[in-house]
Amino acid sequence: MTGTVSLVGSGPGDPDLLTVKARRLLDEADVVLHDKLPGPAIIDLIPEERREDVGKRAGGERTSQSTINERLVELAREGKHVVRLKGGDPFVFGRGGEEAAYLAEHDVPFEVVPGVTSAIAGPAVAGIPATHRDHASSVSFVTGHEDPTKDESAVDWEALAATGGTIVVLMGVGKLPDYTAALRDAGMAPDTPVALVERATWPDQRVATGTLETIVDARDEVGIEPPAITVIGQVAGERERVVEFLRGYGSDESAGAVDRVTER
Ligand code: SAH
Repeated sequence: MTGTVSLVGSGPGDPDLLTVKARRLLDEADVVLHDKLPGPAIIDLIPEERREDVGKRAGGERTSQSTINERLVELAREGKHVVRLKGGDPFVFGRGGEEAAYLAEHDVPFEVVPGVTSAIAGPAVAGIPATHRDHASSVSFVTGHEDPTKDESAVDWEALAATGGTIVVLMGVGKLPDYTAALRDAGMAPDTPVALVERATWPDQRVATGTLETIVDARDEVGIEPPAITVIGQVAGERERVVEFLRGYGSDESAGAVDRVTER
């Protein structure tokens, strides 16, 4: 009898933000395949003998997507209940769709367990609403990590600039200079607020703020590294209004501890 695979979202990293179902499946699964993105606090909930890190191979190389796909099928064919644990939501830039298609092609029954995506949670815990009645009536999730084999950007920054809504960039730390310039070139005001939220909901969460013009300097000054979310739009400015009263994550009591609000 073939087992089943659960494609499970872990949420952004705080174990309290796992769904009740995700938490239950971590206890029930025969084996959990995970990478680093769910974060240590969640990975440590899984007994070592029941977890497999597919994020890295010995030698530091990434396990290829095809190796992960094959491993899922192999374990299911042994009759196991497999949890494939993914950071945030499994179908938001998580390649969960590819895994689902592969499982279907190989006659393996699976379920999808949505998670709290960092695209929403990252801004939220930094005091930034994704939408706002006065500022943003749409929100776009985009990748900042372009396929280097493509000649042209996979993301139409000009079209995004024209929406007037919030732009949330995932995997966008390295290419920040490129797309902030592209958005300015597309006519977005240089003083448009921007925030970077690093390791959202982890104990060492950090936030850097600035504008389309200053955020690269803020990133470098604070030393922001992946994983981080970039929020672009008037909503990012809302943080300033609330940060003094915002409690939650980060080393200091206030999540605003490491902000660099550079000149607008
Ligand atoms: N499926 C995930 C996204 C995977 S792509 C989700 O729904 O959240 C990986 C990117 O997600 C990272 O480069 C980063 O941009 C973002 N990310 C994931 N977890 C994060 C966290 N805790 N804090 C900030 N960004 C995070």
